[in-house]
Amino acid sequence: MLNNSTIFLLALFFLTSCSPKFKKDTLITVRGKMPAEKMGISLIHEHILVDFIGADSTGYHRWEKSKVIERVLPFLMEAKQKGVQTFFECTPSYLGRDPLLLKELSEKTGINILTNTGYYGAGDNKYIPKHAFDQTPEELAKIWIDEFKNGIEGTGVIPGFIKISVARNDILSPMHAKIIKAAAITHKATGLTIVSHTGNDGPAFAQLAILKAEGVSPEAFVWTHAQDGTFEGYVRAAKQGAWISLDNLNKNNSGKAGGIDWYVELLAKLKKENLLHKVLISHDAGWYNPGQENGGNFRAYTDIFRYLIPALRKNGFSQKDLNLLLIKNPRKAYAVTIRKIK
Ligand SMILES: [Zn+2]
Repeated sequence: MLNNSTIFLLALFFLTSCSPKFKKDTLITVRGKMPAEKMGISLIHEHILVDFIGADSTGYHRWEKSKVIERVLPFLMEAKQKGVQTFFECTPSYLGRDPLLLKELSEKTGINILTNTGYYGAGDNKYIPKHAFDQTPEELAKIWIDEFKNGIEGTGVIPGFIKISVARNDILSPMHAKIIKAAAITHKATGLTIVSHTGNDGPAFAQLAILKAEGVSPEAFVWTHAQDGTFEGYVRAAKQGAWISLDNLNKNNSGKAGGIDWYVELLAKLKKENLLHKVLISHDAGWYNPGQENGGNFRAYTDIFRYLIPALRKNGFSQKDLNLLLIKNPRKAYAVTIRKIK
């Protein structure tokens, strides 16, 4: 029997889940758009394939799709068994991004996979294509916006986020300042979230300053590899609205940064500071390396589920906290929406 208050709660649930705000939350996967509310447990920073040979030599000739699929598929299936429904592939173009490979893996596994647009500046600009050196931020943004509008290289696959990277200097080089400015322009035209390989505090705040000058809210910015930053930096950036991406969880780092204990302690500190709602976690694991025999060593995508979650539970984290980290925050951080400074 349904009593009045149950009916009221059901009605409330129905109303809130059907409000226009929820309907607008969209995610763009390699197989097309989907409602962000369906993304489920999400790994926000992982890799399928990375090719380090450099922008001037990389290309699809460097790997055989069927061999990569054979190698990677079991790892994705293992993650799926642990509950992973959505997977952000963070390899940018000129570093091994392969939209059709990702699409095939998504079809084979049923996992939602997202790819990206943007250029990667770290590594002394080795992964920046020649044309970018002479282009303006507007010209770079035009290329990225075109991928969003028309798909990547005629594949029909649309990028679901912007992935860029800058060096670890407090003052950004002209090239890296150009990349973040281009990302700001692209965000304002597309609503794609800016995921930037950053590391320490200096370049994080240098990028946030450029975004703000461009009128882009810090809410649109994911401070990637924030594990190399400081706690004071996390508090300051998160209070501005930026996302803190602690994305190198690896149980083999036991006793040091990136290990299970390190994560538990840091997440507990962030929870105490009431900032858990701005934190993202992932492994930065994988990946098939085309320069190596059978892709080289491959790190699994499951340490969070095997080791971190049980440790967090032991330390007082509730199911609600875990859902926040693995479902709600990714949804809010990556739903496609233009976030300008009000
Ligand atoms: Zn990565």
